[in-house]
Amino acid sequence: MPSGRTHDRITLWGLPWIVALAYLLTRQGELTLIVAGGYLFSALMFGPDLDIYSVQYKRWGILRWIWLPYQRFLSHRSGFSHGLIIGTALRVIYLSVCILLIAIPAVAIAQLIGGFNWNWQHFARQAIQIIAQGYQKEAIALAIGLELGAMSHSVGDWLGSTYKKWRKQRLRPSSQRKKSSKK
Ligand SMILES: [Zn+2]
Repeated sequence: MPSGRTHDRITLWGLPWIVALAYLLTRQGELTLIVAGGYLFSALMFGPDLDIYSVQYKRWGILRWIWLPYQRFLSHRSGFSHGLIIGTALRVIYLSVCILLIAIPAVAIAQLIGGFNWNWQHFARQAIQIIAQGYQKEAIALAIGLELGAMSHSVGDWLGSTYKKWRKQRLRPSSQRKKSSKK
């Protein structure tokens, strides 16, 4: 597995290509920015390696603890964290649940203090309506950006392990020699 710094380098090298491709396909600066933003966020701190103590995990700062249950339930490089689409989808669901778990008591306390009306059902319905009516393209652009970020990580992992295997094969004769001399 490549180091966090190698993954970051791959992310930055990929960025101009992502921007160029997104702009070529959408011809819209705003959508391009959303794809690029999603890509960077996903590759730098929302990627597959949140399943271990990693650079991505550390970048969450004081909020990093929200990923502890995620790490507990998923083994490193499992299909649920590193798999295509499923990895990103599961992280989006997981983060949404975390935000809700924090927001529900926070709103309840604010309600107690402020005495205002708040209906979660109404809020959810309105949010879905707004996204479905006016921000469909933006939501899709964000999803694509997030997935591309995760994919850049998986490509890095794959290149890293392929290189390691190749190096091991090249070094095998000499290491075997060492082993037999120890015997
Ligand atoms: Zn990884």
